[in-house]
This record gives sequence, structure tokens and C-alpha cells, in this order.
Amino acid sequence: MSNDVVSTSPLTGREVGRFPIAADHDVRRAVASAREDAAWWGSLGHAERRKRLTAWRRDLAGRYEEIVDLIRAETGKATADARIETLLALHHLAWAADNARRVLRRRRVRSGLLMFNHRASVEYRPLGVVGVIGPWNFPLFTPLGSIAYALAAGNAVVFKPSEHTPVVGAFLSETLRPFTSGRNVLHVVHGGADVGAALCASGVQKLAFTGSTATAKKIMAACAPTLTPVLIEAGGKDAMIVDADADVTAAARAAVWGGMANAGQACIGIERVYVHRAVFDHFMDAVRAEMPVRAGLDDDAAIGPITTGSQVEIIRAQLVEAVSRGARPVVGSADARDGNVIQPAVLVDVPDDARVMTEETFGPALTLRAVQTMDEAISLVNSTGYGLGGAVFSRRNGAAIAGRMRAGMVSVNAVQAFAAIASLPYGGVGESGFGRIHGDEGLREFAAAASLTVRGPLPSVDMMTFRRPPLVDRLLPAVVRRLFG
Ligand code: NAD
Repeated sequence: MSNDVVSTSPLTGREVGRFPIAADHDVRRAVASAREDAAWWGSLGHAERRKRLTAWRRDLAGRYEEIVDLIRAETGKATADARIETLLALHHLAWAADNARRVLRRRRVRSGLLMFNHRASVEYRPLGVVGVIGPWNFPLFTPLGSIAYALAAGNAVVFKPSEHTPVVGAFLSETLRPFTSGRNVLHVVHGGADVGAALCASGVQKLAFTGSTATAKKIMAACAPTLTPVLIEAGGKDAMIVDADADVTAAARAAVWGGMANAGQACIGIERVYVHRAVFDHFMDAVRAEMPVRAGLDDDAAIGPITTGSQVEIIRAQLVEAVSRGARPVVGSADARDGNVIQPAVLVDVPDDARVMTEETFGPALTLRAVQTMDEAISLVNSTGYGLGGAVFSRRNGAAIAGRMRAGMVSVNAVQAFAAIASLPYGGVGESGFGRIHGDEGLREFAAAASLTVRGPLPSVDMMTFRRPPLVDRLLPAVVRRLFG
């Protein structure tokens, strides 16, 4: 058995890179070393960290095409998908660096009538070392959602990239090094489940996980003995709702991109579309018209292959099961695949309890279902255990419908817009996880609130001493009635 993680291109089958698998003691050593680097990085202050993270971002921006090629080589995704991923990753890196001071620095809070003579304030301090475990589907954008925010908050990071995309992970660490004065605030350890589990048990101050819901449960269990807090960005089964008053062409265009971009391998990919009966046929025709989206290994293909062999099987099995239970492909077929390339499929008449309706598909497949009312649409959307993202198309009622969807993030008259707005927190509910990356919440996620009170000069009665005058105790019932009665 090889002791290396070997990254193989889904496009060519050729090796893209290899790295030794970290042993338990390597993980512990990386965390110990990161702890020293964290003390240095944390002591730099917001302005200095911003300067260094900005320099890193500029360097990465200058290597845009190099990064895009690397992501494409390792995941197989289409160049356009890799370009968008890189753009968004840099957008978040910039935002985190630019906003950390505003969000995390000490600020005054009201001390209230009861404690009027105390100045109260809170600041958000770095946690120390943050462990990050990432997936393969967006090997840059997804882990950077944790890494950039954790670094901007003053932490060092030990990152375990997916075993399918170690090269992008190593690239991130190597490119940051020139901007950290010989220190290493972004350590990388390579390997699969065992190495991830070792990172959970290593004594990091927080573990940020992005991956499947099944693995998330193992992560929580592995973090429990050391009481290591976790951030969970897990899977989804995102839905789009199209109301009778929607711009149907725009909705169809968004559904096709939302479902097929990145070959459907997106946690916030649209997998189910619930369409008001009044516009269902129109919508289906519009989806068909939008659909000439070809998957392939060549540069001209709109979407690339499926990155991992096991994922090819999951997608195929779900589509075949749906069709065997009466579903009808209106685009493609249940089995249109050549090796790891799966052509887009759109199904109608799918039973609501078919796996393609309830489980994450993570492939280029959409299901369309007509609904009589928006109440019915909401109830079907909310019928899975997941609750990550979603979309609504409606001219008049978009925000109201969105407000009833059980999801962490919804875009109205667009898909996935929330992922590109750096000030918006990103994350889900239910089986999609908890905690937030991005935005103010994403910075605070990697910091500990530190509260402070300073007693002021005004003469006042101190309740917190046994020497308080007896009158104070006698007045307390009246104070309670006055303040809270
Ligand atoms: P995965 O759960 O198989 O693996 C994710 C990471 O966890 C990998 O680095 C893997 O090596 C590691 N891992 C696996 N078993 C482990 C264990 N027992 N202990 C510790 N670490 C372990 O997920 P994947 O196939 O790499 O990624 C696809 C999944 O990620 C999908 O479900 C997708 O929805 C989800 N995802 C979610 C988001 C989000 O932001 N919510 C973003 C991207 C992907």
C-alpha cells in the first residue's frame, strides 16, 4: 500500500502530485508548531495582518490562470467553473482581511441602568490554532471560506485538504509563506479519514469541517473527548421555487446553471425545482431550450467530468432508481455516461420519496415537479432533513416565499447570489450543519468574545460586596418592581 496521497487528474488519468500521508505524530507536530506561529500571528494586530493577507491576495491574483489550471487539473472541472471559484475565493480573502478589525476590535456596549457606573466592552480574540478539513468539489473556495476568516481573526491554521485535491491545498500554504516572515501560519497535513480524525483529536481550538453530513457526525464524535468546538458545513438538497408570476425564462436559465455548473458537484447546487402548475409546461420547455450543456473532458465542454469514481456510482444509482419507479427524463437519460463523464439529465414525474428527491445527488441532474400552490411548494422544499441554500423566482412574492424555506441562505430571482456577497453569513440548518463562514459571523466564528467591565469614578452602591449597606438589600424588591415589573 502506498504511503502517499496521490492526486490523479480526472481529465487525463495522470498524476498531478503526491504527498506523504501524515502520521499521528506529524499531525501533533504540525499543531504544536502552528501554536507558536499563532502566538506570533495573533500578536501582530489587525493592521499588520491585513497588510500581509492583502499582499498574499495580490500574489494569488497575479497567478490567476495558474490557479485555474491547477484546480482544473486536479478536479477536472471546466475552466469557467475554476475561474468563478478562484474569483470568489479571492473576493472572500479580500473581505475577511479588510473587515476583521471593524468586526473584532474592542467596542463599547451599553452597561444598563443597573450597572451604569461601569464601562462595558467586548473584543474578539483569536482562538489559537484552527483545524480545517476540506472537500474536493471546490478545493480553493470552500476551505478558504474558513482559512481566510480564521487567519484574518488572528489564528494559525492546520489544514487537511481532501485526499482528492491535495495539490491545491499545498499551493495555498506555499504561496502564503513569503508573506509571513519565515513563519508558517497555514500548515498542511495530507491524508484521508485517519488524518482528519487525528486533527480532530489534536487539541486544536476549533475544527472547521466542510464535507458530507455522514462525515460531519464522525467529526463531532471525534472532537467530543477534547471538547473541541466544531463548525459544520455539510451537504444540501437545495430547491428552487418558481411561482406563477415568475420570469420563466430567467428562472429556467438559473435552474440550468444552478443545477449543472461544476457538473452539479456543489453543496448549494439546485437539485429540485418546484414550479407552479400555471407555468410548469412553459418552464419545462424553457429548461429544454437552455439545456445544450455538454459534459466532457475537452476544453470546449461546458462542464467537466465527475471528480471521484464513487460519486459517479451514487449519481447513476439515484437516476436509475427514479426511472425504474416511473420518472421520465425530459433531457438526457438516466444512464448517459462515458467513464467519469455524465451528461445532464432533467427528470419529471419523480416520486417524492425517490432517493433523487431526498438525498444529495451531487451530479448534473435536476428534477422538476409541478405544484398547485406555494404552500405545497414550501412543504415539499422543507421535507428533507437538509437546509442549506435555495432560490425563489417570483415577481411579487419572492422574499415572502423565501422566508418560509427552511434554509440558511436563499436568493430571489437568482441562484447562489448569497455565496458571492462576502458580507453575508454562509451556512445551513439541520443536516446541512451549523455555524457560519463569511461575513461578520464568519469572522466571529474563529474568535472568542472577551468581555470587560471597568468601574467608573461616580459614587455608586456596589452590590457585589458583603459590605453593602443593609438599605440596599431592603430596596432590592422595589428596584426589581421598578425595573422589571
Ligand atoms: P467527505 O465528507 O467525504 O470528506 C470531506 C473531508 O473529510 C475530506 O477531507 C475527508 O478526507 C475528510 N474525512 C473523511 N472521513 C473522515 C473522518 N472519519 N474523520 C475526519 N475527516 C474525515 O466529503 P467530500 O466527498 O470530500 O465532499 C463532498 C461533500 O461536501 C458534499 O456532501 C457537499 O455537499 C459537501 N460540501 C459542503 C459545503 C458547504 O459549505 N456546506 C461546501 C462544499 C461541499
